[in-house]
Amino acid sequence: TSVVNRIAAGEIIVQPANALKEMLENSIDAGSSHIDVLIKEGGFKLLQISDNGCGIDKEDLPLLCERFATSKITSFEDLNRISTYGFRGEALASISHISRVSVVTKTKKAPLAYRAYYTNGNLTTSTFQQADNVDPKPTAGKNGTQILVEDLFYNVPARLKTLRSKGEELSKIVDVVGRYAVHVGGVGINCKRFGEPFNLVSTRIGMSLEDRIRAVFGNDIANELIKLELTNNDNRNELKSKYGLFGVTGVITNSNFNNKKRIQPVFFINNRLVSCEPLKRAIQSVVNIFLPKHAMPFTYLSIELDPQNLDVNIHPTKREVRFLHEEEIIDAISELIHTAMSSVDK
Ligand code: ADP
Ligand code: MG
Repeated sequence: TSVVNRIAAGEIIVQPANALKEMLENSIDAGSSHIDVLIKEGGFKLLQISDNGCGIDKEDLPLLCERFATSKITSFEDLNRISTYGFRGEALASISHISRVSVVTKTKKAPLAYRAYYTNGNLTTSTFQQADNVDPKPTAGKNGTQILVEDLFYNVPARLKTLRSKGEELSKIVDVVGRYAVHVGGVGINCKRFGEPFNLVSTRIGMSLEDRIRAVFGNDIANELIKLELTNNDNRNELKSKYGLFGVTGVITNSNFNNKKRIQPVFFINNRLVSCEPLKRAIQSVVNIFLPKHAMPFTYLSIELDPQNLDVNIHPTKREVRFLHEEEIIDAISELIHTAMSSVDK
């Protein structure tokens, strides 16, 4: 029933930033080179994301917000090998059970764009009423997809009560958008508050990693980056064959204490934003060798693991990641950071 679906959805999407992250990943998956994010009232009133990606075929629109409707898994085998983002078609379905979703989308080959409205997983009329024979309507539009999520949690009053502060939810959204903007060099990302002209996040396609970090986290951090890269050697071959660690790139700051905002480390594993407490702790203990106690440098790591070794069954909003050979892989990354920090002149 719709109540059960709503409860399930409320467990997947617990705050506006969860919805935004899923939508952002979809836009990145769609091959976009530019993404615009617009937020009204901390995301409760409106989360709008516009991309110039591949668009959605008209025929796929009726099922867009159906559970397990995904274009990203082609066989059962793939379930264990997911290396793109996304959690098996649950995100949009969940969002549609706890908000009003509307979509304008156009593929390159379609002569027109189409507009569709959804609640509770189903196509609806423009006033979000259930009706028979609701069809997506042709409309003017550019190649790409625009998704509007309005009145998030309108039917989950208990959740609304626990999430009172619009400012706090806005900053969580901006944090997620900023992290993706740092990570994805092939996409320009802008993020604004509704009715305000200035960007909260703004990157352009093709910016260097350093410039993306500058754009998102500021000069202090961008000016003192040390590059981290697992280079080709025997050790790396072993890490790859034995532990499924395909690669690590990233940066760390060599500052005494310039990270005044104490920005949490930015970890991406297989292009998915994650938290990893054991990795964070390991980095901290390496850092403690070089910097005054409790100094927290800025860290960004992009880690490529054998997708087979990643636990994909973990709840989509639980950012804490699980993978095989955790100890060996974390050791290797600690060593990488140790080498990089010791080679810097003080
Ligand atoms: P998943 O990403 O796991 O497939 P979602 O619920 O996030 O599940 O999305 C469902 C499907 O909707 C995707 O597989 C994709 O085909 C389509 N989709 C969603 N957002 C976009 C977008 N911005 N551009 C193109 N297709 C999209
Ligand atoms: Mg998705």
